[in-house]
Amino acid sequence: MDVAEVAVELPVAGTYHYEVPARWSMRPLVGARVLVPFGGRGVTGIVVAYPAAAAVPAGQMRPIEDVLDDVPPVSAELLDLCLWVARYYEAPPGEVLRAALPAGTRVTAARFVALTDAGREALAGAAGGALPRRLRDVLGRVAGAGGAIAARQLGARGIRREDVDALVASGLLQRTTARSRARVRPRTERVAVAVGPVDAAVRAALARAPKRLAVLEAIVAAGGAAAVADLKHAEPRAADHVRALSRAGLVEVVHRPVRRDGWAVAADDVATSAPVEPPQLTEPQRAALDQIARAVDDGVFRSFVLHGVTGSGKTEVYLHAIARALAAGKSAIVLVPEISLTPQLAARFRARFGDRVAVLHSGLSDGERFDEWHRLRRGQAAIALGARSAVFAPVDRLGVVVVDEEHDSSFKQEEGVRYHARDVALVRAQRAGAVCILGSATPSLESYRAAATGRHALLELPSRATARPLPEVDIVDLRTYQPEGDAMLTAPLAAAIDDALAAGDQVILFLNRRGFSTFVVCGRCGHAFRCPHCSVALTHHHRSRKLLCHYCGHSEPVPDRCTPCGGAKTILRRGIGTEKVAAAVGARYPGARVARLDRDSAAGAGLHDVLRRVARREVDILVGTQMVTKGHDFPGVTLVGVLCADTGLSLPDFRASERTFQLLTQVAGRAGRGDRPGRVVIQTYRPEAVAVAAAGRHDYAWFYRAESASRAELGYPPFGHVIAVRFDGPDPGAVRAVARQFEDRIRALRAPGVTALGPVEAPLARLKGRSRWHVWLRGSDRKAVRAAARALVAPGVDRPASVRVVVDVDPVSAL
Ligand code: ADP
Ligand code: ZN
Repeated sequence: MDVAEVAVELPVAGTYHYEVPARWSMRPLVGARVLVPFGGRGVTGIVVAYPAAAAVPAGQMRPIEDVLDDVPPVSAELLDLCLWVARYYEAPPGEVLRAALPAGTRVTAARFVALTDAGREALAGAAGGALPRRLRDVLGRVAGAGGAIAARQLGARGIRREDVDALVASGLLQRTTARSRARVRPRTERVAVAVGPVDAAVRAALARAPKRLAVLEAIVAAGGAAAVADLKHAEPRAADHVRALSRAGLVEVVHRPVRRDGWAVAADDVATSAPVEPPQLTEPQRAALDQIARAVDDGVFRSFVLHGVTGSGKTEVYLHAIARALAAGKSAIVLVPEISLTPQLAARFRARFGDRVAVLHSGLSDGERFDEWHRLRRGQAAIALGARSAVFAPVDRLGVVVVDEEHDSSFKQEEGVRYHARDVALVRAQRAGAVCILGSATPSLESYRAAATGRHALLELPSRATARPLPEVDIVDLRTYQPEGDAMLTAPLAAAIDDALAAGDQVILFLNRRGFSTFVVCGRCGHAFRCPHCSVALTHHHRSRKLLCHYCGHSEPVPDRCTPCGGAKTILRRGIGTEKVAAAVGARYPGARVARLDRDSAAGAGLHDVLRRVARREVDILVGTQMVTKGHDFPGVTLVGVLCADTGLSLPDFRASERTFQLLTQVAGRAGRGDRPGRVVIQTYRPEAVAVAAAGRHDYAWFYRAESASRAELGYPPFGHVIAVRFDGPDPGAVRAVARQFEDRIRALRAPGVTALGPVEAPLARLKGRSRWHVWLRGSDRKAVRAAARALVAPGVDRPASVRVVVDVDPVSAL
């Protein structure tokens, strides 16, 4: 008897053993989806292995009910990776596998009780008379429901389980499982293929059907095969004619897969100046590539941190490394933070590699993603380019994995399986014997330290690829220079804008707060308008006339009087967001074309529209949130202004300083990428903060040293390991009560070398209607921290089902 180890698609830990029915001639392949009984229902799962010994005694093992795939959707290599992710991130293996498969391919199953032939006969014939009346009644009811009833509905229909069991035992009913079809399937089109040429005999045969003849001629003219849908353009009734031609044996109709192409979204006409012919590499690029290429040729795992200043040509290095891998018959994965934000990057990959690139991002429809995924699975495409989930792309013979902007926090998934795509990328490359490149102008402390200690090789691109130097940065102290009005411009920044506009250049103004007024209060009673579901202030959005919560999306109309005190005309709107700045800047520079790039203006087609206008130089001043800091390459931008550098510095998060440094460096890197030199003005209340000062001097090494020292002192990553245990639920009292119980557990926890902070209420105490508490476990030994986390969440805490407890390994957000 074969025993299969199956990861079920349910949020349960571990895997389960099932028996392969003896009557099956072949056991399901490892990686194939199967239908198995679990509790009282049928669920899908993936066969992960065939262990030598079963965990369950033979008599008690339940059989696999059905195999859903002949060709496994996941390769053995990918399966292995998913199981590693499940172990490392303390996540249910079935959930990880689900994250690795394209959306919409899930198959669900329902169990039914159905009449057998014998049951049908019993009802109709005399044999039924021998049955007890109650059982006859049950058979009758099943017959009345069309011959089958869903197991879940038996109770509601007054049918008892014992009766069903008795009828199953006597062969009159059977239990069956019906599976739903996947929501997303391959799309095919009907193609008419001409069987032979249009000769005299054919013409004669079709003499009385001129339209049919015309359709046949069109097929032949199209090279002997034409999609029926295309034929309809010329002849609306083409489908009927094709059918008749097929009956006459003149054409054959076949189904051909159609690719749903998401490129239209990614590439668009945001024109890129990137040449299809690669440029001559600079010396540092060449040196970096040499090392990478050697590793690619060796076909063994090696990891690199590619630290290159903004505009140093990192992308060019990736492109070359990938070309090298492709030439050796290998494939590549390229992870980028937010591909929809940087269509230029996708366009450069497509310009270089054409159809061999498959793009996977959230802007695609499920159908498009499914098709791109299958092109990779079948080897029709060899480069997977996408956001974090592309780390699970189904490529074989992996040669190179690139993580671009590896410091970006969007690589960490914050719900469901809480994996970090950069770390998973490293593990995937290691297991596949591939090369992993972590590229950034501002490497994360984790990656840079790993390079400094020899775990990764360090490659440096210290200057820009073009002749232009990095922009000059002026730091303006907001305590000395008062910002003027709602545009938040100090005199030095205003003067710089005047100069840039006079020269016909473009300007980017960055402020990390969207909306119009970032909080709304009553000037009489002090009431602040806050989100009812989250512990944050609501932001006033002028254009949409709404108060919006930026965390959960809650919106309410702008109040005309105060809720508690009823005061009219007492409502004050305070705090400045990008919407207000854009309006004020527009008023101050009436001749300039001002556009805004933030989550509000980027909704729908807005994003592409704004990026396109900036690229075409139809925008003079672009005001935006961190969306403007991403890898845009706009050669016309010579001035970048940071309106307030320290908005994020005081967040209660040990990475606040690192994030600020990264944002400032990245946004500064948008200036002076063309032939004219760039300039950056950073306005700040804290010019002495290292994050600000180091960004001002383009001095990564300084920032790294300073930040390392304070992290090391506190034992925070990368000098210690952290696991967060998070509790949340709708009822604040219930969450607090559960957290209290964990207090006792922590006191009882004997884990030398592990420090526990909490349980405490999370800084963002309420989010999307749920109250939040957490415990941070920290220590220098990863194993000890993990053991402590496991002990902490072990069963035995009395908690209502509404309170969720999740383990977050290597947490990124401290909020
Ligand atoms: P990064 O990814 O490091 O920010 P990019 O790869 O986007 O830098 O390169 C910045 C600009 O320099 C792009 O416009 C690119 O086409 C150009 N570039 C890159 N490498 C070279 C090179 N070797 N010679 C000339 N131009 C280059
Ligand atoms: Zn909210």
